[in-house]
Amino acid sequence: MNYQYWNSELETMPRPALEALQLNRLKEAVGWALRTSFYRERLGKAGIGSPDDIKSLADLRRIPYTTKQDLRDGFPYGFLSIPREEVVRLHASSGTTGVPTTIYFNRDDIKRWTDNVARCIYGTGCNSADVFQNMINYGLFTGGLGFHAGGEEVGMLVIPSGAGNTTRQFRLMQDFGTTVVHATPSFLLHVEARMREEGVSRESIKLRKAFAGAEPYSEDTRRRIEALLHIDVYNSYGLSEMNGPGVAFECQAKNGLHLWEDRYIGEIIDPDTLEPAPEGETGELVLTCLCREATPILRYRTRDLSSFYTGVCPCGRTHRRLRRITGRTDDMLIINGVNVFPSQIEEVVMSMKEVGNNYLIVVEKEGVLDRLTVKVEVGPDIFMDDTRPLNALRDKIRSTIQASITINPRVELHEGGSLPVSEGKAKRVIDNRPKDI
Ligand code: ADP
Ligand code: ZN
Repeated sequence: MNYQYWNSELETMPRPALEALQLNRLKEAVGWALRTSFYRERLGKAGIGSPDDIKSLADLRRIPYTTKQDLRDGFPYGFLSIPREEVVRLHASSGTTGVPTTIYFNRDDIKRWTDNVARCIYGTGCNSADVFQNMINYGLFTGGLGFHAGGEEVGMLVIPSGAGNTTRQFRLMQDFGTTVVHATPSFLLHVEARMREEGVSRESIKLRKAFAGAEPYSEDTRRRIEALLHIDVYNSYGLSEMNGPGVAFECQAKNGLHLWEDRYIGEIIDPDTLEPAPEGETGELVLTCLCREATPILRYRTRDLSSFYTGVCPCGRTHRRLRRITGRTDDMLIINGVNVFPSQIEEVVMSMKEVGNNYLIVVEKEGVLDRLTVKVEVGPDIFMDDTRPLNALRDKIRSTIQASITINPRVELHEGGSLPVSEGKAKRVIDNRPKDI
């Protein structure tokens, strides 16, 4: 494999040098943070009144965590650390779990962010010969403009197609010879199903790569997209609190996402005790942003669950790799007392070849008990009026889910293309249970 680096010095920097760089940048970020009253108070209580109070990377642990609630409480300008006149852009999180939070950028912040995204894109083997269709929501959401700028930086021809409008998406691919797309994995599956439905031949498009992210998906879903579209799919992780895309990304070895440690410091903690998780174990990812002056955020509790791989990557990059993010701490459903992550159900359904491209999880109250229903689209080879194979498939899905999560679900089979599709992040869970009072 011919691994290519956007910035070989930074990407392959020996760990001691990388950590020295992190320390310098952490001090700088603490300096930026101390300009806000929020961090002056928080850091002051922890005995940090100046960047010089950070003497080693171990001092990171003296910094208190920042939570989503802190950011919300600071809405709209509480985390802004520079004069308003120096801000050139704002973005907001998509608000999946409540009130959105706002992030501000100055000119240099945008340059650094763009460089991060370019590094990710280039590392997958793209160059100026590529035509890149950015099939994701533009606007306040960071995925649109973030990838757009990164794509231009690499020198690709960028088509700002935005999300949705499925038929137009593959027309654009045909007209302009798109070679790379960026989308949510659920939208990629939807586009593929529609292409099949409308008889678009694979030969009429030149696609060879996709960046898929913004929502959790399983390894089976990746393989499914790769097999159906005959492309390489790279996992892309980011969040608006850390700029957006460009935080962690897979290289061509596709064995975990390199967290760009010259720009972010990552920790994995036990979400209950808030202590560091043992090496290699799953926990909550905590990130410190070293590259944004206008809105410094230190030790942010992402609520995303992951862990670090140990060992080095064959690509030669020295930045540690995160495992695929399986979900958020607050995604967890408690069904009749059993903890269930939607990703466990996705793993089962997406591994079955008879299953189509979409599914939905519904939880309801039935008397005193919780009732889990999994609605699954069937694949194109299964006919809805052929009851025997349908019953067999329903049973297979039911028993495999039960073996995985110990709960016996009701399984409903639906025709391909009939379950709701979201243009942005997929909504996989509908919880109709009355909220506790
Ligand atoms: P919101 O928190 O409102 O969804 P963002 O638009 O910033 O706001 O989304 C960031 C979140 O999206 C991450 O914290 C994570 O939960 C999820 N996410 C992004 N990329 C991935 C990915 N590749 N795998 C799993 N989850 C992802
Ligand atoms: Zn690598």
